[in-house]
Order: sequence, then structure tokens, then C-alpha cells
Amino acid sequence: MQTDVQIAQAATMQHINDIGAKLGITADKLEHYGKYKAKINPADAFALPKKQGKLILVTAINPTPAGEGKTTVTIGLTDALNHIGKQAVVAMREPSLGPVFGVKGGAAGGGYAQVLPMEDINLHFTGDFHAISAANNLLAAMLDNHIYQGNALNIDPKRVLWRRVVDMNDRQLRNIINGLGKPTDGVIRPDGFDITVASEVMAIFCLAKDLGDLKQRLGNILVAYTVDNQAVYAKDLNANGAMAALLKDAIKPNLVQTIEGSPAFVHGGPFANIAHGCNSVLATRLAQHLGDYAVTEAGFGADLGAEKFCDIKSRLAGFTPDCAVVVATVRALKYNGGVEKADLGAENVDAVRKGLPNLLKHISNLKNVFGLPVVVAINRFVSDSDAELATIQAACEANGADFALTEVWEKGGKGGVDLANKVVQAIEKNQNSFQFAYDVNDSIADKITAIATKIYGAAGVEFGAEAQAEMANLTRLGLDKLPVCMAKTQYSLSDNAKLLGCPSGFTIQVRGMTVSAGAGFIVVLCGNMMKMPGLPKVPAAEKIDVDENGVISGLF
Ligand code: ADP
Ligand code: MG
Repeated sequence: MQTDVQIAQAATMQHINDIGAKLGITADKLEHYGKYKAKINPADAFALPKKQGKLILVTAINPTPAGEGKTTVTIGLTDALNHIGKQAVVAMREPSLGPVFGVKGGAAGGGYAQVLPMEDINLHFTGDFHAISAANNLLAAMLDNHIYQGNALNIDPKRVLWRRVVDMNDRQLRNIINGLGKPTDGVIRPDGFDITVASEVMAIFCLAKDLGDLKQRLGNILVAYTVDNQAVYAKDLNANGAMAALLKDAIKPNLVQTIEGSPAFVHGGPFANIAHGCNSVLATRLAQHLGDYAVTEAGFGADLGAEKFCDIKSRLAGFTPDCAVVVATVRALKYNGGVEKADLGAENVDAVRKGLPNLLKHISNLKNVFGLPVVVAINRFVSDSDAELATIQAACEANGADFALTEVWEKGGKGGVDLANKVVQAIEKNQNSFQFAYDVNDSIADKITAIATKIYGAAGVEFGAEAQAEMANLTRLGLDKLPVCMAKTQYSLSDNAKLLGCPSGFTIQVRGMTVSAGAGFIVVLCGNMMKMPGLPKVPAAEKIDVDENGVISGLF
């Protein structure tokens, strides 16, 4: 069997001018990064006739640690829609180097549903993440320099919130002491690095409407407290202008293509726990402006990804999603049905059945809480048995859920024709009554409780002492009327990764809270969130290589 990179390299790419032409963008309006990648100035794209494409969100049930194929289905559905004669554009996240070299591998789809050139997209791409790292680290440097140069703002060095970033899994940098050395070498303080995708600059980048909005949001980053407990923002350090300057090209969405030549915007990629886990608003808006159908993805399962897509991204950007596609796999249903990771390969119809309440809960949430039409994409693996697949189909039928067996990984767009037709029908039936899960003007506690009870199925929420103190602090600072961004495990509807299926009667424990005041959301910590992952014992990087002609191997 061919690997993803082999399939990608065997595909014939079209010149990016031809991909631009499919969107009505002439070559002179593309900013070329070689023959197969280009950036587009949003102003140029928005000057073209508006299509107001239908917005399709691809989400999933609670996954196994391997991922259930949201990105793969997102790309495959786009190809399938084009295959049946619609005009579809995909908008998706850029991969981070951390997972590429770590456990998960690349994030440019899989099998015959990939975006190209997959090697470039997975490794550096057009340099957006480096620009984001530089902007983040400029703010860090200016902040420490301010303290060193006399500290006019009276910043408490022990209450600096802003950390440095690098786009690499590097646990060695999680906690550091910097400013060591001579008196002229800075001020000693405890510090640390996060991975770039965890930076608030990344979240801001993905929510900004334009360069002006970007600059303003960067200025609103809360970076520290003074000795007398006053908030210090990036704008107090006059950092946001230069940070935005570093991002002026990165903010332009990247255009590439799928294996079947569908236009693809790949742009931005924030964490899905401490941030909202979606590609940039600009890329989504461009896909909608230039396509009849815009297909996009949100990270993790629907309890996190779809909730944040609706309550954070759509709310802040003014989007109304038109349809949700829920990716379900036999293996994730078996996992939710209690099967150990090592045994997921063996047929187990009973476990599939036991896992079904997880799928049904997500369908119900999307339909009843968010008011969206839903189609289930059963992402078929070659190892799935007919009996296992039939069990999922029967459950969808019994519960009145539209579904389609989806084989885009194996067959590309052809394998997603049924899904594409079902999605088009679901949108044309027009039963959309999109709404948010909570009112942003409610108290922080009420917003969290609404998500926990309506979406997760929790009995209630308990707020730890630190969380309570921070709720009071955010209210004092006037930062309480923001949407909330839940940071919890992706493996369970609850905050306990071991509680699989569709648990009930549990209590969500809120341990802490932080604010991403620039991005515009309150981060609610339910458990320890890792913002700087480490590499595994045998990193994927050990298998990645390049030959003397520049051909890359070992990416997956
Ligand atoms: P997600 O976006 O949900 O994390 P991905 O689309 O990145 O998931 O898929 C995770 C991994 O599973 C990728 O390596 C992908 O190639 C693989 N994969 C997805 N769908 C299939 C399938 N139907 N058969 C085999 N492998 C698949
Ligand atoms: Mg993905």
C-alpha cells in the first residue's frame, strides 16, 4: 500500500494560476510562492463578485488517539462536491511542526484526500508560523526589555503572563530561568516556552477580520500585572504595531489544491483546547466569497470543535453555518464502547453498539442546541466489517439522522458522492435555525454551565478556588462578557478521558481560568493543558528524509 507522501508525489499538480482561475482570480492577483502555492490579498479577493457560499462544518464524535479523519473527510467532501458538479472550496488549518515530527504526523489529509504539495504544507509552508513566532517573541523581548530599562509601568516580574514560543515539540523549554548572567544581561525570572500554535497571537491571527483588526486585537493581549495589580496590555508596551508589521504577509490566506484540483485555503492553526482550533476567519470568508460551498473543519470532537466553531468563531466573525457533518468511525465507536486501543482492529459489533450513544449525543447537540442540519459521514477503513458498518447505519436510520458511507481516503472525491449529495439535500431542505449555546452577556459561570449541561451532558459544574478568584478578577477588569473557550480532554464528553460513550451524572471541575483578551475569549481550564508537547521515544522525525534532488520521504 502506498503511503500518503507517495500518493501525494504521484499526483499531477496544476499550476497555481489554474487553481486561482477556478475562483476567478487572475494570475496578477496571486502572490506566488513557487508554482504551486500562492497568497491572496483578501482585499483583492473580496473585490470579486460575491458568491455567499454555503458553510459546511466538518466535526466528529469523540476520537481515538489516532484521529478519526475530519481533515481527510473535509478535503474529500470538497472533491466530491466538485465531482457532482457543484463549486466547492476547502478552508483548513496549517499543520504545526510539533506533531509532524512527533507522534501524529502531518495534517494535510490522508490517502486520496490530501492537499498538495503535502511536503511543503507540512514543513514550513509559506512561513506563516515563523512570522507568528517572531511576533510573539517580539512582544516577549519588549516586555523584558521594559522591565530591564527601568520598568516605568511597574510590572511585577513574578506576574508576567506572556511566554516565548517555538514551533517544535521541545519539553526541555517548558520551564526555564532566563536573564542569567551579568547585570547587563537582563532581569532574572522564571519563564518558559509554549509551542507556536498555543500562542495567543495564533488565535488572534485566526480571528482577525483584517490587518487593522489584527493590530487592535494584538494590542489587547493581557501580558502582565503591575506590582499594584493593574493589568498591562501589549498596547501599553507599544508592541502591537510592530507585531502586526511582522504579520502583514502571513495574514493573507494561502491557496493550494487538493489531489483532484479543488481550490484549498490552508491558513492558521490554533490549538483546539486553550484556543478555538479553526483555520483563519479570512480563509473561511474567502472560501465562502469565492465558492458555492465552503467546507471547513474544527479540531477535536464536536463537544469542543463544533461548540467553539459556533460559539466563538461564528459569533466573532458573524458566520452562520449551513450544515454540520459528523465524522464517525467504527474504531472510535468501538473505543467509546470500551475496547482497548490495542484491540480496535478486531471485529466487535457489540462494542460498536455500545459506543453509539456518543454519536447520537453529538447529533442531538448539533441539531437541537445549535439548530443545524446534520449529516453523519461514516469514514470507512478497509478493516471495518460489513456488520459493524451496518450497525452504525441502522442506528442513524432509527434516529432519523442522515448518513453516508464515505470512502474518500480510498477513492478520493468518487468515494464521497453520497455524502456530497446528502449534504446538498440537507442544506436545500433549509431547516437551519442556527443559534448559540449561550448568551455572551451571561456571567462567566452561567456560560460554562450552559456548555457543560447542554453539550457535555453534565449534572453541574464545580469551580475551584483559583477559578473563582479569576472569575472575580476578570469581572473586575471588565473582561467577563466574552465567549468562553473550554480546555478539556478531547476523548470524553466529560472532563475525564476515561469516561467514554455518553456519560451522565458527572460534574465538570473547573480548576482555573485565563483570558485571551486580544483573541476575545476566556480560557476555562478543566484539567492540565499541555502547551508545550514533548517528542515520543521514537519521534516521527527519525523516519523523515530528503534525497539529493530535494524529494522528501517518510512524512505521513
Ligand atoms: P483528524 O483531522 O480527525 O485528526 P485526519 O483526517 O488527520 O483526522 O486523519 C487521521 C489519520 O487517519 C491520518 O493519518 C489519515 O490518513 C488516516 N485516515 C483517515 N481516514 C482514513 C481511512 N478511511 N482509512 C485509513 N486511514 C484513514
Ligand atoms: Mg484534522
